[in-house]
Amino acid sequence: MQSASENSLVALSDVNFDDSFVRTLPADPREENGVRPVPNACFSFVKPTPVRQPRLIAWSDAVGAILGLARPKGDQDSTVEILAGNRLVPGMRPYAARYGGHQFGHWAGQLGDGRAITLGEIVNREGQRWELQLKGAGPTPYSRNADGRAVLRSSIREFLCSEAMHHLGVPTTRALSLIRADDQVVRDMFYDGHPQLETCALVTRVAPTFVRFGNFQILTVNGELKELHQLADYVIAQHYPDFNLWSPTVYGDWFKEICRRTALMITHWQRVGFVHGVMNTDNMSILGLTIDYGPYGWLDVYDPDWTPNTTDAHRRRYRFGHQPAVAIWNLAQLGQALQPLFTDPQTIEAGMNEFHAHFSESYGRMKAAKLGLAEAPDRADAELIQELDEILKLEPTDMTIFYRKLADIPLAEGDAAASERLGILEPAFYSPTRTPLHAQRLAAWLERYAARSRSEGLDPEERRRRMNQVNPKFILRNYLSQQAIDAAEQGDHSLIERLMQVMQRPYDEQPEHETFAARRPEWAENRAGCSALSCSS
Ligand code: AMP
Ligand code: MG
Repeated sequence: MQSASENSLVALSDVNFDDSFVRTLPADPREENGVRPVPNACFSFVKPTPVRQPRLIAWSDAVGAILGLARPKGDQDSTVEILAGNRLVPGMRPYAARYGGHQFGHWAGQLGDGRAITLGEIVNREGQRWELQLKGAGPTPYSRNADGRAVLRSSIREFLCSEAMHHLGVPTTRALSLIRADDQVVRDMFYDGHPQLETCALVTRVAPTFVRFGNFQILTVNGELKELHQLADYVIAQHYPDFNLWSPTVYGDWFKEICRRTALMITHWQRVGFVHGVMNTDNMSILGLTIDYGPYGWLDVYDPDWTPNTTDAHRRRYRFGHQPAVAIWNLAQLGQALQPLFTDPQTIEAGMNEFHAHFSESYGRMKAAKLGLAEAPDRADAELIQELDEILKLEPTDMTIFYRKLADIPLAEGDAAASERLGILEPAFYSPTRTPLHAQRLAAWLERYAARSRSEGLDPEERRRRMNQVNPKFILRNYLSQQAIDAAEQGDHSLIERLMQVMQRPYDEQPEHETFAARRPEWAENRAGCSALSCSS
């Protein structure tokens, strides 16, 4: 039997679409769909290009519930047609947003939604506004020399990861649906002269707004200050309602809030071992959400220098340990773009300070919480945290398993407890034996850590419960997504569904899904898609 709330879910065609972005902001006056520079506008009207034989292969009931949408009954369902870009409903005014960005540290000029098309906004029963955006919906004025499509493998990765991140408690855009089509496009996955035909797919992404740092940058770079004002006022009024647009310091206050939100997002990434992979300023959300899942990856082995992105393999600008520094660099670029709005010349610096203060506070608390410590770290705790960081780098250690198992170790004094601790942590290590240096430093650290933990005075159950809320058991390991992709390419979509289910409860034990919590298997160490990805998608 359906519950009352399920009964109240409707088809997408029965939803009233709103379009505050389109109504409020300056449009590109040209409506034909051709690649071009677009001056003095925040977006261009453009319709999705239909695909052949769309098939719904995944759906997020959680996002459906937020939007009040019923799961489609089959591939003929009008909701599937709409989310495939094959049908519009009255009231929809789809568009592609105009933005620029710094890519790998260099200003790249106009980029824009080259394959993402926003259908409109849904205002749900709670009064929340959600933008629905199709990724892979065909060419737009911003497609440059590309085809406007997204392929199945990258779409599966974006769909699964944005939902997994949400359930991990990381600020992120969401995903409603994943649709595959019969159309194919050519991709040279590693840009090494091996082009192949790949299946097209579309993800419906959902967020309050997909506005990025780059939407502001392009306006300022081109001297379009009236439009800059309009966009800032729109984003503040619509998405930062606590800020008073009449206050003389509103833009500076708002910029600081963006700095704080970004700091919090990065803290979460570092907590769960997520590496974004392409932190260009066009991939930084103005709401502090994780956005644009491309060649991202998850740390299996703890290695601050790791990046999954082969396009960045040489300089490693976007490596795990560098994400906080890149975030602040990106915020400085945003600050430059917003500079014409600031009344105080010190505002950018104030924002940077805000980031530093907020990040060091939230990061310190997070690192302490991962160890089960309730307070922000004092000097001795900071040393303990630092020493663990060094030890984890000595030998290939699975970050997720290590922290999860740490909640289970006995804290008692004495040799028996000490050797039991090492045994409990064993599954976290990728090599079967420890070097003497590693074993000795780890044992000494555990001794200190156990003593520190005893001083917290928690009973073991409470300690475990607390730590298990911060240290996930399940992350979307790169090889798991790759297995789901391999199966989907053979027509089997069941692993996508299973992974979705498991990743909805990443902090729960779920013993029936133990295999999904295991160390990365050896075969996945160097396999494409598991450890190495390119921007090709
Ligand atoms: P990304 O690296 O995915 O963040 O994309 C950078 C820019 O390239 C954005 O403007 C994208 O819209 C655009 N882009 C990436 N792939 C495609 C594609 N297949 N077709 C059109 N534009 C694309
Ligand atoms: Mg992007």
